[in-house]
Amino acid sequence: MSIVTNKELLTRAKEGKYAVAAFNTNNLEYTQAILQAASELNAPVIVEAAKSEIDYMNGHVFVAMVRAMAKDLKIPVGIHLDHGPSYEETIRCINYGFTSVMYDGSAHSLDDNIANTKKVVEAAHACGVSVEGEIGVIGQAADSPEGPIDESKIGLADPIECERFVKETGVDIFAAAIGNAHGIYKKKPELRFDLLKDIAARTNVPLVLHGGTGIPVEDIRTAITLGVSKINFSTVMRKGGIETLTKTLNDNPGDWDYMKLLTPAREKMVAIAKEHIIMCMSDGKAWN
Ligand SMILES: [Zn+2]
Repeated sequence: MSIVTNKELLTRAKEGKYAVAAFNTNNLEYTQAILQAASELNAPVIVEAAKSEIDYMNGHVFVAMVRAMAKDLKIPVGIHLDHGPSYEETIRCINYGFTSVMYDGSAHSLDDNIANTKKVVEAAHACGVSVEGEIGVIGQAADSPEGPIDESKIGLADPIECERFVKETGVDIFAAAIGNAHGIYKKKPELRFDLLKDIAARTNVPLVLHGGTGIPVEDIRTAITLGVSKINFSTVMRKGGIETLTKTLNDNPGDWDYMKLLTPAREKMVAIAKEHIIMCMSDGKAWN
């Protein structure tokens, strides 16, 4: 179908009471897996990349690759910057052709986060690009890349601050920390649905749940009914892909055929992406 903004994808998702799965990517096979899974399930999807992933692929190459792959598919696809660390990075991604950018100012004071996000919104909206903002630090894995989560680092957003942030910045989409975290949860995550409900009532924009890996399906579904319209999955795809690749390499010592060795990993990622799209209830929701 076509490349669309996250605002369009998520406004429809909010109305339709489902969430669009957003998968991080950093190479060809990974991106193919995401789009194949979404296409086979007739689901809208968001392909996203963080700065390190964009630098690895080259932003121009990444956008050209997604656009070329999506060209003949009958599903809407968003191209999104995940956790943009600066105003400059968001502008770079708008220039590459992203349809949505996140500015993550959650480490700044609320006033600075609002001022910086507002600047991003002004520039992005002038180019028809949608903006995701965040307050309340979403827990991080203890080690990088995302490993086991350090539960003591999970922050919570204040609903009153969320209301002020969304109103003053004009963001299209909003991510609030409600007990979720990036990486692998050591125990069942305790999402604060009371906070989510309050934040949804005060903001009235599609909400984003980061750190989707490991959140039980019943909690994903509850979050959707309370206003979450985009769920980010990164760790689960990488883990499944690399574990499969490791096994393939161990089973085929001395084999140097990249295509043969990477194919099972790509197939595994297609299966994982499908499972998470179904969790989000976005299968069959592509429109023409
Ligand atoms: Zn995130």
